[in-house]
Amino acid sequence: MLNMEEFDVAIVGGGPIGAYIAKRIVEKDFRVAIFEKNKEIGLPINCAGLISQRVFDFLDISPKNIVQNKVKGANIYSPSGDTLTIGGDRIHALVINRAEFDKEIIKKAIEKGAEVFLKNNVLAAQKTSNHIELKTSQNHDIKSKLLIGADGPFSKIRDRFAFPKPTEFLRGIGAEVTNISLDPNFVEIFVGNKIAPGFFAWVIPNNKEGTEARIGLCINQNSPYPPKYYLSNFLKKSSILKEAKTLNFIAGIIPLGALKSTCSSNVLIVGDAAAQVKPTSGGGIYTGILCANYCSDVSIEALQKNQYSSKFLKKYHKLWTADIGKELTLGMKFRKIYKKLSDRQMDKYIKRFQNPKIIETISKYGDIDYPSKLITPLLKKTPSLLKLLPSWIKE
Ligand SMILES: Cc1cc2nc3c(=O)[nH]c(=O)nc-3n(C[C@H](O)[C@H](O)[C@H](O)COP(=O)(O)OP(=O)(O)OC[C@H]3O[C@@H](n4cnc5c(N)ncnc54)[C@H](O)[C@@H]3O)c2cc1C
Repeated sequence: MLNMEEFDVAIVGGGPIGAYIAKRIVEKDFRVAIFEKNKEIGLPINCAGLISQRVFDFLDISPKNIVQNKVKGANIYSPSGDTLTIGGDRIHALVINRAEFDKEIIKKAIEKGAEVFLKNNVLAAQKTSNHIELKTSQNHDIKSKLLIGADGPFSKIRDRFAFPKPTEFLRGIGAEVTNISLDPNFVEIFVGNKIAPGFFAWVIPNNKEGTEARIGLCINQNSPYPPKYYLSNFLKKSSILKEAKTLNFIAGIIPLGALKSTCSSNVLIVGDAAAQVKPTSGGGIYTGILCANYCSDVSIEALQKNQYSSKFLKKYHKLWTADIGKELTLGMKFRKIYKKLSDRQMDKYIKRFQNPKIIETISKYGDIDYPSKLITPLLKKTPSLLKLLPSWIKE
């Protein structure tokens, strides 16, 4: 195609990951375009909005209008209704206004010079000699030296360039509720195959008074009923939610099982598109931003050296896997076991964990971004737990 507009980098997806990468690359004086199919950044919301403070360490946005509540611990309910309370000692997580969060990140990118094209669904992408050509629903045809697929769980860029697919996709659903009365310092977690097969349900207080919350759950792809069925049961049966008034519903997909390959010549895949998501919690904001940092570093280096080969860009894959790859792999192993647990086994484990030594260790070492950090101190403090551990950890 003649007279195509040229960019150094084209990013597909104006979510937090794409916008953060845009800001970092444009700061180095490269021309960056973001294509977003929705008409507004941050909407519709598909997220419970629970993140660690670490996320803000990467971003130069103020948490002031974004953080709605700070969470110090969790009450975990077994299928038969036993409660395990962990934490309570310090701030373990932040509850954010996800729409505002996304908007603030992209605002920074725009301030630095990124060009954002809303309502531009990227329909086609092809590689020419040493460029990528893109076609959007608004007939915006451009070419770029690098293409970054930050286009979420169903990434078109991932499929178009034949990257592997995530191992599985969780189906998520949720709602904002009001007219409840909760301890705002604690999130409530419910496990059980009748509640949320393969995952868990949550109630996250999103104001300091504990009168409003984000509730939701995720289920396995092959669960016997659709997500709506489980959510409506949860609303009906949970005593916390008896008087709750439901405001907005959300729904979304969480990809799990990070891709074994995330770059080829001129193309990089990142965030949910690459399933850079914690398999134990479904949280993808911290892991996505962490990987986005490596993605932007390597992209900047590629542009400075005019090197877009697969061999050169592979540095990105090596960097993020060296950093968080093991944690994500371990998370998938844990998940494989968790998916097989019966309600009776879950009851048993939760009972076993109701031990002051174990609770103290979880509170001290528990880290929502790095759950594996807990394994060694837990086993040191309570060697008898080894008996409960599945064979893959004992080996
Ligand atoms: C129910 C639920 C609850 C969650 N709760 C949490 C939580 O509490 N904490 C946490 O850390 N994570 C949570 N997550 C995960 C988190 O939302 C994602 O990890 C995060 O949004 C990933 O960011 P991203 O930028 O990679 O993708 P996205 O946020 O999905 O952004 C991708 C963007 O690409 C756009 N796009 C897609 N295709 C195209 C195309 N062809 N052309 C143009 N634009 C396109 C989309 O419109 C979208 O705006 C949750 C997810 C779900 C579903």
